[in-house]
Amino acid sequence: MTSPVGYELVTALREFVERIEAVAPVPDGPAVASVSVSIDGGEASLSLSGSVAVSLIMALREYHDPRDNGRCEHCGGRRLDSNLMCADCQRPNGVFGQLIMERAARHAAPDPDTDLVKDLTAAPERPAG
Ligand SMILES: [Zn+2]
Repeated sequence: MTSPVGYELVTALREFVERIEAVAPVPDGPAVASVSVSIDGGEASLSLSGSVAVSLIMALREYHDPRDNGRCEHCGGRRLDSNLMCADCQRPNGVFGQLIMERAARHAAPDPDTDLVKDLTAAPERPAG
């Protein structure tokens, strides 16, 4: 697996470990875990002390992807775009989405009480000839 992102991941992990170890209590204790990343047939492995492991857990759990706009109320899908349109069920999400759907339905079906509809439906057929 060759990917510049793989090398960037290893660099970011090393920098993270260094940042946490710089402020960790001394002694920080033995390694409690190791993380290995395979890149280009090789492998980079980092040992994590307890405080580094706890900090990594917190960082991962607190991460919020900027593309994550929550769950769709209709299908439970997680692929809502920035306009809250669901890529799974193709419906707009939430109260705002419900308003859009209601407006769209009104535009799709003409109101039978409008003068134009009354005129068209009430017009008598003209005799041929
Ligand atoms: Zn949906």
